[in-house]
Order: sequence, then structure tokens, then C-alpha cells
Amino acid sequence: MLILMVDDSPTIRSSVSFCIQNAGYKVVEAVDGQDGLERLEEMKNQGIAPSLIITDVNMPRMDGMTFIENVKKSEFRYLPIMVLTTESEEGLIEKGRALGASGWLLKPFQPEELLWAIKKLVWER
Ligand SMILES: [Mg+2]
Repeated sequence: MLILMVDDSPTIRSSVSFCIQNAGYKVVEAVDGQDGLERLEEMKNQGIAPSLIITDVNMPRMDGMTFIENVKKSEFRYLPIMVLTTESEEGLIEKGRALGASGWLLKPFQPEELLWAIKKLVWER
């Protein structure tokens, strides 16, 4: 299983990657929403697709909400998207859901919590 993970924090990227790779999954990292779209475009050109996208909300260049909006307009619109953020404001969570996010996990996260959420989102489809 391949997961695209989008976060501007190198610390979060490496802890999420470590956790995902430890569970035997592959991960592609992107540093912001714009970079995330570019990684997806590269995958499309290689004829591959991730099983899941994990994205942060607050990022430079393109934030997580705009990123989700763009993914949902692309051929990757069917992919489950999990938001991993410090933002717990109900309005924002609702907005994310309305845009097409299927899960919301708060930082700091426990590795088991992250893996459980990943499995749930991928198997639910
Ligand atoms: Mg951030």
C-alpha cells in the first residue's frame, strides 16, 4: 500500500513516515498542498496511485483545505483523505468533511491511533 503524506513540518513528515513504513506500507512525502498535487501528477504519469492521502491543514503555498478541493476535482477524487492537524475547531472539521475529507486525526498522535485510522479509511472503501 502506498500513502501520500502532505505536511510542511519535517518532524511530522518523518514521524508519520516512520510509523507508516514500520507497518510495512510505502510513503511518498510532499511539503505542501502544491507539492502534493505535483506528486499526484507524477504518480499519474507513472500509472500508479496511492491508496490514501494524509494531509495537514496549515501549510505555505497551498493549505490542506485547498489541496483537498483540488484533489476532489482531479482523477484522484475517489481516494480517501485523512486530515492530520492540530486544528480541532468544529467548523473547520465540518468544512473539511464537506470538501471530501473522510477522516480527521489530531496531532500529537499515537502511532497505533494513526495506523488504526489508516486501516479504517482504506478498508472502508
Ligand atoms: Mg503545518
